[in-house]
Amino acid sequence: SPITLSNPALLQTQPFINGAFVPCNQTFPVDNPATGATIAEVGNASVEQTSQAIEHADQAFQSWKNTTAKSRAQLLRKWFDLIVANTTDLATLMTLEQGKPLAEAKGEVTYGASFVEWFAEQAKRIEGSVLESPQAGRELLVLKQGIGVCAAITPWNFPIAMITRKVAPALAAGCTVVIKPAEQTPLSALALAELARQAGIPPGVLNVITADSDRSIEVGKVLCESDAVRKLTFTGSTEVGRILMKQCAPTIKKLSLELGGHAPFIVFEDADLDKAVDGLMASKFRNAGQTCVCTNRIYVHRSIQAAFAGKLQAKVAALEVGDGLATSASVGPMIDEQAVAKVKRHVDDAVAKGATVLAGGQSHALGGRFFQPTLINNANHDMLVAQEETFGPLAAVFPFDTEAEAIFNANNTPYGLAAYFYTENTARTFRVARALDYGMVGINVGVFSNEVGPFGGVKQSGLGREGSVWGIEEFLEIKYLCIGVQ
Ligand code: ADP
Repeated sequence: SPITLSNPALLQTQPFINGAFVPCNQTFPVDNPATGATIAEVGNASVEQTSQAIEHADQAFQSWKNTTAKSRAQLLRKWFDLIVANTTDLATLMTLEQGKPLAEAKGEVTYGASFVEWFAEQAKRIEGSVLESPQAGRELLVLKQGIGVCAAITPWNFPIAMITRKVAPALAAGCTVVIKPAEQTPLSALALAELARQAGIPPGVLNVITADSDRSIEVGKVLCESDAVRKLTFTGSTEVGRILMKQCAPTIKKLSLELGGHAPFIVFEDADLDKAVDGLMASKFRNAGQTCVCTNRIYVHRSIQAAFAGKLQAKVAALEVGDGLATSASVGPMIDEQAVAKVKRHVDDAVAKGATVLAGGQSHALGGRFFQPTLINNANHDMLVAQEETFGPLAAVFPFDTEAEAIFNANNTPYGLAAYFYTENTARTFRVARALDYGMVGINVGVFSNEVGPFGGVKQSGLGREGSVWGIEEFLEIKYLCIGVQ
């Protein structure tokens, strides 16, 4: 194997069902986006194995739901400790299959682990209520209970954090889960499962179904159509979210959907320009622009456009691109050829419609899936970059003249995930924050995600919130008790 880990048990290549890694009739290749080389063959789980995983999760739920919150908290805490202790191996696997630079992968392990720690704590704080009855002789109580078996379908851009952000609150709430990780990044998911096993999380409570892209569609159907599965939690594209929502309609499943975004980043004339440039660089170029909260439209007040674009140009041109494991580059390869083609299409379309390229604009000299970090100026709303999620290292500057115009343009999209703005004016801060139709707003910051803040979108960016005190509620049902006491 080309993969060297200090803990070789973390390299698992078969689906994890009922506490064991089980063989499959078929495998599919997982490649390294930096080189295109196959790094592992992973079991392509069948529809039957998916049904078995659901049955085991259902059986495990019957006992897991009756464990104490304290014991679930202790198991989650052990899982957290093991994830942290194995940070380097987990990050190495992640960089190999996903491409993000190793330092960034380590950051994701820390971020991903923070959800396990947080929900280990929150498990103990699930609280019901005692209500004041409007009639005499009655006691009214509210209990909260885990909803049941949950399916989690996750993307490749955060191979660990998108799993822990769903699975930790599910387990904390007393639910059991079947995870279907992205076909590009199954190794990170299986390593997490191995650590859950080592932590003592009982068989059947956490299952991982690995599948290639075609099989993922079939597996997705089984998960959505199962009556035993009471909840689907999904992170991915709006297009797939819509399909899954439809497939879940017959069984009336509870849904959490974290879908696409098209983040505006507004720089007002009273902004601190250096801070805004740094915030933009973090918001735009981390993970090579492949996050759902990455900036897609930079709105800059016309009076500072030249100054802002000039500062940005120097920073973008200075970004180092390379293999995330072999170099100290801060921008890695893109996930696949289609991702590269989409960025190219957005750049070419913008240039054809009158934008100016200030940095990059082409495939990188390294070839393969590397693309030059790119800055374009004088973008407009007829361009693809203004309409589609680019999901790549392309920063596009759109000039504006008034606050009202900036807010209108920022909101003029079916998406509503993340927005950012920079201003040093307090009244404007609150005015604009309230006016933006987004689930999350970064003000004078370019990165805001953590386990404490509620992550989620409005409009076609999704349903529900992850992390925070609200994240666990998505996995709990409310039960009302009315007791006659006379
Ligand atoms: P991305 O653009 O990030 O790849 P997708 O929405 O295509 O986002 O994929 C996110 C996850 O959804 C992956 O695990 C993928 O395998 C899965 N997926 C894609 N299409 C389907 C489908 N039709 N049914 C079930 N899962 C799917």
